[in-house]
Amino acid sequence: MTDQTAIDESAPASKGGLLDGKVILVTGASRGIGAAAASLFAEEGAEVVLAARDETALQRVVDGIRAAGGIADAVVFDLADADSTWAGVARAAKLYGRLDGAFNNAGAPQQPGPLDVTSEEDIDAQATVNFRGQWTAMKAQPEAMRAIGGGAIVNTSSLGGLRQSTDLPAYSAIKRALNSLTETAAVTWAREGIRVNALAPGGTLTDMWNQWEAAQPGTIAAVGAAVPLGRMVEPREVAEAAAWLLSDRAAMVTGVVLPVDGGGSVAG
Ligand code: NAP
Repeated sequence: MTDQTAIDESAPASKGGLLDGKVILVTGASRGIGAAAASLFAEEGAEVVLAARDETALQRVVDGIRAAGGIADAVVFDLADADSTWAGVARAAKLYGRLDGAFNNAGAPQQPGPLDVTSEEDIDAQATVNFRGQWTAMKAQPEAMRAIGGGAIVNTSSLGGLRQSTDLPAYSAIKRALNSLTETAAVTWAREGIRVNALAPGGTLTDMWNQWEAAQPGTIAAVGAAVPLGRMVEPREVAEAAAWLLSDRAAMVTGVVLPVDGGGSVAG
């Protein structure tokens, strides 16, 4: 009888990271949620490809990940430009020879409402970057995933895309369209082993909020107080949900739009 408890000394030790062995592309990685996600994914064992338009800012995040012992590189592309996006995703897939996952997180800044004052420029910016750009990136990603038998995509939507949004009408309408696209892609690519999900963060403490706080002190405390869990979301907390959805631990989860909002979406 063999000893079932014996340890095989010749077997390579698993590092135990949630994303060990995976190559993951993160868009919008030059700051905010994307930068936090790229760092967390590297800590969880992934080789990470960071994307955005600002090469200098991207390189700063890449340098930080490498200094912490992670593996990371950068590709520059503009989601407003379809050719640039196709080429950027292809470069990302080539860097480490495969693509297991993509966190489509980049987002163009939004103008506040109300609806009656929404400008054509805001509607165009939201449609071009936050919808058409995401769509193009998603279309470009499965080719590399099919080559390795599957993969996982996570799109960053928003709490605003789950309900009415008098504050950010164009942005929120486009995020809801992204939710629909996420569900359709999940069903379209399911039999190819490609899972597609989205996150719907509530107010998350990135630069934009610090600027709003500087312009109107008390904003962060007021927004946080309205959240059932009593505070705003940290970028790292959005990244944690993305890491799980991109990992094999979420193997039967697809077509979901997961709120990361401290209960905001159910509180109304
Ligand atoms: P952020 O700090 O403004 O970062 C946005 C990222 O997107 C940057 O890395 C930016 O890099 C990149 N980007 C913008 N336009 C791009 C383009 N045309 N092509 C390629 N990259 C582009 O935003 P964040 O607050 O971290 O938000 C990240 C995502 O979460 C967005 O989709 C946002 O809508 C969503 N979200 C945020 C909150 C929040 O409260 N912060 C709440 C809900 C949802 P470059 O400028 O270098 O290109």
